Amino acid sequence: MYDFSSLIDAALLPYTQIMLKAERDLWAHPQTGYREWYASNYLKEHFEKLGYQPVMAGNIPGFYADFHTGRPGPMIAIFVEMDSLICANHPKSDPQSGYVHACGHHAQCAALLGIAAAVLAPEIRDRLSGTVRFIAVPAEELLELGYRKKLKEQGIIKYFGGKVEFLYRGYLDGVDAAFMVHSSCSNKLLTFPVGSNGCFSKNITYHGKSAHAGGEPQNGINALYAANLGLHAINALRETFVDDDHIRVHPIITAGGSAVNAIPETVAMESYVRGATLESIVSANEKINRAIAASALALGANVTISDLMGYFPLKPNEEMKQLGYEIARRLYGADQVELSATWDTGCTDMGDIASVMPALHPYIAGAVGHGHGADYDIQDPHKAVVESARFQTAFLCALLENGGSETIKIKQNAKLLFSSYADYFRTVDALEMEQEAINYIRDGEAHVRWKK
Ligand SMILES: [Zn+2]
Ligand SMILES: [Zn+2]
Repeated sequence: MYDFSSLIDAALLPYTQIMLKAERDLWAHPQTGYREWYASNYLKEHFEKLGYQPVMAGNIPGFYADFHTGRPGPMIAIFVEMDSLICANHPKSDPQSGYVHACGHHAQCAALLGIAAAVLAPEIRDRLSGTVRFIAVPAEELLELGYRKKLKEQGIIKYFGGKVEFLYRGYLDGVDAAFMVHSSCSNKLLTFPVGSNGCFSKNITYHGKSAHAGGEPQNGINALYAANLGLHAINALRETFVDDDHIRVHPIITAGGSAVNAIPETVAMESYVRGATLESIVSANEKINRAIAASALALGANVTISDLMGYFPLKPNEEMKQLGYEIARRLYGADQVELSATWDTGCTDMGDIASVMPALHPYIAGAVGHGHGADYDIQDPHKAVVESARFQTAFLCALLENGGSETIKIKQNAKLLFSSYADYFRTVDALEMEQEAINYIRDGEAHVRWKK
C-alpha cells in the first residue's frame, strides 16, 4: 500500500484554517432535517470555489459533487450529514428553535471540505483512479416525524432519511462503496464499531371526542387518557423483548390537548422501535401496535398508526473495516484506535446504505458530553475535523490507488442484504403502513387490526 500520509498532510495544510472556520460557522447555524439550507449553500459555495460543480437536490437541501480522476475505476461515495438536533436546554441552542448541533454533524461537513481540497493536489490525484462522489445529505436524525410526513404528503420527499431519499432519487447510482466518519466522545481517536440498530419510525394519532371538561365529560372521549394507557401497555411489554435483539422503544407525546377545560380530542405521539435485525424490529413493532390499538379500544377511542421503515441495522463491511483499522493504526498508533465489540443501539441511515453496498461508518474523537444531550460540544475540532479529513483522505486513497483494486475486491466479496436498490425499496415499501386500528361495528362489537 502506497503511503500517502505526507502528501495528504501537505495537501490539507493550506486548507486547515478554512475547515476550522467552517466548523464554527456551521455550528452557529444549526437546522434540523430537510431545513438545512444554510449548510447546503455554505458547502456548495466552498465546493464551487474549489472548482467542483455540485448537483443540487433542489427542492430539499443537499447535493453531490464528483471528482473524476480521469482514469477508469470504481466510484466511492463520501457522506456528510448536515442536520442538527432540537435540544432547547442546551446552553448554545438557538433560542427560538432550540436547534443545536448536539450530534456534531457540522464537524463532518467541515472535514469534507478538506478532503475535497486534498484530492485536487496533483501528486495525490495522479495516483488515484475512478471517481469520488462527495455527498452532503439532509436529515440523518429521524425527528419531527409529523413535519416529514407532511413533506411526504406534499410529494417533496418519499423517504424520511436523507440518505434513503438520495438513494431513491438516483444520486447513488453507480457508486461501488461508501463511507463517512461521525464524531464521538470516545477517548480513542478512531473507533470501528461492530454494528448498530435499525428502527421503525411511528406516527400515532389517538382520536377521541371533545367535550366540556367540567360540564359534560361524560359525553367526551379522552384521547390523552387513551394515549396514557398506550404508554403503560408498551412499558408492560418490555420484559418480553429478547436481550440480544436490543429492542428500544421510546415514545413521546407531541400534542396532548389544547385547552385545559376541554377533553382532548386528538393526541399525537411519535416513536421509534429499534432493534438489531429487521425480524426483531417487525416482531416487537407488532406487539406495540397491538398495545396501542387496545388502549384506544379501552376508552372507546380510535387510533391511526402510521409506520415507516426508519433505518436498517448497520453492518459495516468487514474488509473495509479491516482496511480502515490498518490505515488508522499506521497514522495514529495502535493505542489510539479501537475495534469495538459493543453493539450500538442508536440508528443511522448509513445502515440502509450498508444494506445495498459495502459501507463503513467509524467514529472520531473530539466531542465531549453526551450525544444528543445538553452538554454536547466539539471540544477538540482538530481531532473532529482535521484528523477526520486526514484519515478519510488516506482511506479514500487506499480505496482508489492501483486502479481501485482494493474497492473491486471489496465489492466482489461483499455479502449484501439486498442485491439491488430496487429489492431494497420493495422491502421498505412493503413495511409501510397507515391505518385506523379499530372498526366499531355495533354496540359491544369492534374489529381491531394492528397489522397491515
Ligand atoms: Zn445523532
Ligand atoms: Zn449523528
